[in-house]
Amino acid sequence: PFDVLVVGGGPAGAAAAIYAARKGIRTGIAAERFGGQVLDTMAIENYISVPYTEGPKLGAALENHVRQYDVDLMNTQRAAKLVPAATENGLVEVELESGASLLARTVILSTGARWRSMNVPGETEYRNKGVTYCPHCDGPLFKGKRVAVIGGGNSGVEAAIDLAGIVAHVTLVEFDSALRADEVLQRKLRSLPNVTILLSTLTTEVLGDGSKVTGLTYTDRTTDESHTVDLEGVFVQIGLLPNTEWLAGSVDLSPRGEIVIDDRGQTSVSGVFAAGDCTTVPFKQIVIAAGAGATAALSAFDHLIRTSAP
Ligand code: FAD
Repeated sequence: PFDVLVVGGGPAGAAAAIYAARKGIRTGIAAERFGGQVLDTMAIENYISVPYTEGPKLGAALENHVRQYDVDLMNTQRAAKLVPAATENGLVEVELESGASLLARTVILSTGARWRSMNVPGETEYRNKGVTYCPHCDGPLFKGKRVAVIGGGNSGVEAAIDLAGIVAHVTLVEFDSALRADEVLQRKLRSLPNVTILLSTLTTEVLGDGSKVTGLTYTDRTTDESHTVDLEGVFVQIGLLPNTEWLAGSVDLSPRGEIVIDDRGQTSVSGVFAAGDCTTVPFKQIVIAAGAGATAALSAFDHLIRTSAP
């Protein structure tokens, strides 16, 4: 069995594997797609000490760093089930979709998350060409330009407030007849001079010129009329879905499906830790996920030195 088995190969999982392996303990990492979400992005400008890199480059660097150590790297392996140890200090089992089963004294869950998409024409075509899901990552790219934020929940309204300080104009698009964000955020949003709020509005298409976004069409649900706004960016903020469906019933999940952890990365199950976007950690960023991976690995090591091998 592994001393530490990491499930997920994004920044959180890579950091966890490196920190575990550096303790000289048997470390494995199983990932559906090594590199994780960073593979889907182009410019990354906020990974501290790296002023600029690109997703595929950072993904390769994560893998290369893990391979400097004696880590059993199992790529293209999807975990299907977690079976907590039957006894205290027993082995945790991770069943893979391939049918194989891995046993470990401690497990670190770092399966990340995915952005919910609008599923409208143009959205995929213009992804990273104006369509984005991360205001913290991409806001500065739209300095002085016009953008839309899709979604009037807390994340959409926070994004609109944040962006209003950077861009020329923000159009906030909400499907419902009211915003769902906290009242204090709504008040702040309404006080901003360069924000237009559209309620009861369904986004129908992202428009572009072949290489970048040029606008958005939407239907006013009260009149059924279709309109177009000219703009350069679309921030989709309609939910971040943690990749934790396979964990239901084994570890405690929040109402949003995030793995509940404490500040040491401990989950509700003994010997099982978690890190990164799949957890209740408040912000979802590469540098935060990597830090959380290190925390989880050190906590797993701490757990190991306090318990005897089964
Ligand atoms: P992820 O990167 O999501 O990695 C999850 C890993 O788990 C993957 O290897 C995945 O294949 C694997 N996995 C999932 N389910 C299973 C399963 N059942 N079994 C086995 N493996 C599984 N952040 C920034 O800080 N700066 C940016 O500029 C930036 N830009 C972004 C641009 C885009 C388009 C996107 C989508 C995100 C961006 N982010 C950015 C956010 C950043 O990518 C994430 O916060 C970060 O990757 C989270 O790391 P993670 O390790 O927690 O999860």
